Amino acid sequence: MSFSPVISFDEITKKFPIRKGFKVQYVHAVRNVSLDIYQGEIISIVGESGCGKTTLLRLLARIYLEDNGEIVFEGKSIPKRFSRREELEFRRKVQMIFQDPFSSLNPVKKIYQILKRPLELQKFDNVEKRIYEALEEVELTPPDNFINKYPYELSGGQRQRVVIARAIITKPSVILADEPTSMLDVSIRAGIMKLMLKIRDDFNTTYLHVTHDLAASRYISDRIAVMYAGMLLEVGLSDEVVLNPLHPYTKLLRKAAPDPDKLVSEKLGNTGEVPNLITPPKGCPFEPRCNYSMEKCKNTIPPYFEIDGRKIRCFLFEK
Ligand code: SF4
Repeated sequence: MSFSPVISFDEITKKFPIRKGFKVQYVHAVRNVSLDIYQGEIISIVGESGCGKTTLLRLLARIYLEDNGEIVFEGKSIPKRFSRREELEFRRKVQMIFQDPFSSLNPVKKIYQILKRPLELQKFDNVEKRIYEALEEVELTPPDNFINKYPYELSGGQRQRVVIARAIITKPSVILADEPTSMLDVSIRAGIMKLMLKIRDDFNTTYLHVTHDLAASRYISDRIAVMYAGMLLEVGLSDEVVLNPLHPYTKLLRKAAPDPDKLVSEKLGNTGEVPNLITPPKGCPFEPRCNYSMEKCKNTIPPYFEIDGRKIRCFLFEK
């Protein structure tokens, strides 16, 4: 792993307008997120649905644009508007794996055509050779058994392998993975996660992986960033965050995944409500659910406190 970040989020903020009659309100989806991600690293953003994790991933993918802050990729600020040349280069280097392997593949195209398209857009030479290589890299072998099939002729796991082949076919340095195993049968999730790890090991690929599953994120990632109500509350090495959570919210998530060696966690029980992001709490976002709340938690957003290399947004760790 290199020591200069390949991606840096610097105080990123994103809100979405909602119209109610003449009134416009805003959902504060991502708030003051800062995070460095290193080449060859797998980092999981973990949190309940609606916490802003997918929005963060989509900001990096340039599906959304941030309101404030800066996202730096390979040392350069990512522009809000790309030139054609910049966009092609960015899309070659940063690819996405979507959650749903059923809807993310064009049902009327054969696998060969699906994989050919990004190579044509990027003007690759030796298209056929690269398609065969990519199918081998995702262990769909022999490739001749797959290239002339339609997506509906494949199993869910095979389709997700095609989605991964399409993501790696342009040899990207970064893959954005949006809950890549959540729609797959439990029996094939481990195979897909092993494949993602193999690709990282073979090509030094960086992953930004988004999931609600703390146990799965421990299995796949080097570091975990726990997100809640648009903010990152705890960032640290995966084993440390899962085995010894420090932030009260991470402890709650950990409770919902009692066996860290399981690849599937249980759902959160009746542990309070996620705050309304139209009017988020003035202070700590977790304050309304926190058993350790203090007076200052109500009105002041805690900064990051650093404990043994781990970053925690909680006043309990103020020196
Ligand atoms: Fe709880 Fe206060 Fe820590 Fe927030 S800052 S998690 S309210 S103790």
